Amino acid sequence: MDTALWKAGSLPRECDLAIVGGGFGGLTAMARALQQHCGWRILVLERYPRSGPGIAYGGCDSHHLLNVPASRMGAFPEDPAAFHSWLERTQPGRFAPSDFVPRALFAAYMDEVVGDALASVGGSAPTAVGASARLPPPTFAQHVLVRAEPIMRHVDLLFGSGDAVRAGALLMAPGLPAARAPWHAFDEEVPLDLLAPDPWAANALQGIAPDAPVVIVGSGLTAIDIVSALRRRGHSGRITLLSRSGRLPLPHADGAATNAEYDRALLARGAREALRTVRKAAKELRARNLPWQGALDGLRALTTPVWSSWSTKERMRFMTHLRPFWEIHRHRAPRVLLDDLAAQQRSGSLVIVRGSVRSLRCGPQGVIVTVNSGSGLRTDLPAARVINCAGPAQGVRNTVDPLISSLLQSGVATTDDLGIGLHTDIDGRLIGNEGKAQERIYLVGALRRGDLWESTAVPELRMQVAKAVDGIAALLRQA
Ligand SMILES: Cc1cc2nc3c(=O)[nH]c(=O)nc-3n(C[C@H](O)[C@H](O)[C@H](O)COP(=O)(O)OP(=O)(O)OC[C@H]3O[C@@H](n4cnc5c(N)ncnc54)[C@H](O)[C@@H]3O)c2cc1C
Repeated sequence: MDTALWKAGSLPRECDLAIVGGGFGGLTAMARALQQHCGWRILVLERYPRSGPGIAYGGCDSHHLLNVPASRMGAFPEDPAAFHSWLERTQPGRFAPSDFVPRALFAAYMDEVVGDALASVGGSAPTAVGASARLPPPTFAQHVLVRAEPIMRHVDLLFGSGDAVRAGALLMAPGLPAARAPWHAFDEEVPLDLLAPDPWAANALQGIAPDAPVVIVGSGLTAIDIVSALRRRGHSGRITLLSRSGRLPLPHADGAATNAEYDRALLARGAREALRTVRKAAKELRARNLPWQGALDGLRALTTPVWSSWSTKERMRFMTHLRPFWEIHRHRAPRVLLDDLAAQQRSGSLVIVRGSVRSLRCGPQGVIVTVNSGSGLRTDLPAARVINCAGPAQGVRNTVDPLISSLLQSGVATTDDLGIGLHTDIDGRLIGNEGKAQERIYLVGALRRGDLWESTAVPELRMQVAKAVDGIAALLRQA
């Protein structure tokens, strides 16, 4: 994606639809709005000059793989297999529908989705701002939205730059707010360039000596990506993955799995009963020589209704006791990557440590990471670079994100019961502190996880985007 897309210049004073976020959610919302409801003045906002659609697909190299099969990654709900059809068109016969293909290819597909949408309004490339066109092309602006306030038939938007814009509707696709780095206490002498709070920052892996020890905080999908990226750069030194669970994601099934079938009423009884039921289903699949992964995949269509039917107490129980297990079973990794990590573990070049960062201080190789391993046990790990792959913030109540905190403070938004996201109605409209839906502010993406739980990947997001854009279309038609 052309980084020139995002211009830091001046903003229009008014627009019909403002979209926050240049990730998958924001860009598909823009494309859908252009295809179906041409004529709106659309403003698309992104904080960073991204080179791809969001963190997931921008900045990744040709070895970073999708964790959803190609046949399920289409941008629009009308054609879930569209990404695989695109692969067939651009490189016939190279990938099967069930393949986990490089994320960079998905970025190229999204480029085409965005380019086609822009071409439909007369702009041919994702650069045109205000160029002569049949219909108004969107304005792409590199700005940080810090406040949104619904007033009468508008939403007033305020930016970090001090600019203000009046919008007919706001569609928020901001992903999850960043977490604070997982190192709270460290000596002032520790040089900051030895710490990488954002693993996707351009300089996160730069300047590490090939044989130097590296500590990665986290052991999930991002950590796996970063280990692979380091090895491809020729890094041969020891890499330590440090996480509370000390577990890697589990592998995808080899080939297509047979999905288990569930009695929804059993799952709705609560977290403990759901665990029992899913374990039983996995056991039955294994007894039939079928992959256990089908027990998780069979839950996909039921997850949101079951989650919504649980009481806050049951959801809390799940978050406290089952979430770590859910994460590694549900958010799985391609087997080829896990086999590679297993070989590194056997050779001793990769070590997985269970615990959390207690402190950082200077050491002979750069930094010494002191790890709390529970029961008062402490271990020291030497590192030339400490890389944060612990993922986004778990909660939003104390978020440092200016937009989310201002929405909560002003009562325009409220948190879900668990405080892990923002409360929305069934169509995705924010629920304010009077319990009423904000008719002009829609949210798509992972911040809806408290209400929906499954609200992370393309298959869920494209449905949310379609609903939100259709809702906004109905609203703007009334105006
Ligand atoms: C490493 C990784 C791999 C993944 N792999 C897959 C996969 O294979 N398949 C899959 O389906 N899903 C995958 N996901 C999940 C992925 O998050 C979603 O598919 C999707 O990309 C999320 O898009 P989004 O638009 O909701 O959020 P994001 O991509 O996070 O985009 C949100 C954007 O909003 C911007 N923003 C936020 N607040 C503001 C503000 N106030 N003002 C201006 N801009 C703002 C941010 O800078 C960001 O660029 C992966 C995620 C990660 C992190």
